[in-house]
Amino acid sequence: MPRRIDNAFEKEGIFLEDKKRILIIEDEDSICDILSYALRQEGYAVKCAFNGKDGLRELEDFSPDVIILDLMLPDISGFDLCRKITSKYKIPIIMLTCRNDITDKVLGLELGADDYITKPFDIREVTARVKTAFRRMENLRQSLSNRQIVCINDHVSIDKKAMEVYKDGVKVKFKPKEYELLLLFCENRDRVLTREQILDRVWGLDYEGGLRTVDVHVQRIRKKLDVEGALSIIDTVFGIGYKMCSRD
Ligand code: CA
Repeated sequence: MPRRIDNAFEKEGIFLEDKKRILIIEDEDSICDILSYALRQEGYAVKCAFNGKDGLRELEDFSPDVIILDLMLPDISGFDLCRKITSKYKIPIIMLTCRNDITDKVLGLELGADDYITKPFDIREVTARVKTAFRRMENLRQSLSNRQIVCINDHVSIDKKAMEVYKDGVKVKFKPKEYELLLLFCENRDRVLTREQILDRVWGLDYEGGLRTVDVHVQRIRKKLDVEGALSIIDTVFGIGYKMCSRD
């Protein structure tokens, strides 16, 4: 017996085309209810699917802008679903995971999830994460358009054409791998990157230097670009990896 698809927003007569759409794939009714209520209050159109099969169908029918995906589903694991979705679509995925399971988080991020939320969650955190996901999509769209000078924060900018980095208007010497790493963070603003992902993207899978290489290079970038008394240009996400946050 297939479970219901939540069509409440259609009954409310809200015009879908004006709203950003969020698909929640989660089998627990109570969590779906809390999330969809809060996200609708924020002005999003929300649909819930209660298993992986319905979730995949809603990807086509509802065409969401962001997906909130639970790890534990009755018919398919959230990881498998995540892999399926990211192989075909460029939709930000926020994974719902259980408390403190770092392995789950790392695996989720490596399968292409953009972010994760730990259960039990604070609903304000969820809405904040969703906003970040939308902002990240917007940043991505902007960086794909022809901009050559990218401002990372009030102090630091990158000239992508010249492959140069500036701090307070002064050129800072960057080694090629340091530059590549900075650019990787810049293009994945607000997204947690695992150390494995970073190593893979900047140094390649065959590189034998190990994860420590990533830490060392992050330290070098911080040393070159951090401003005294301000937050670091790159945040450490404990046990997982690193993230460059929007500071606006
Ligand atoms: Ca579940």
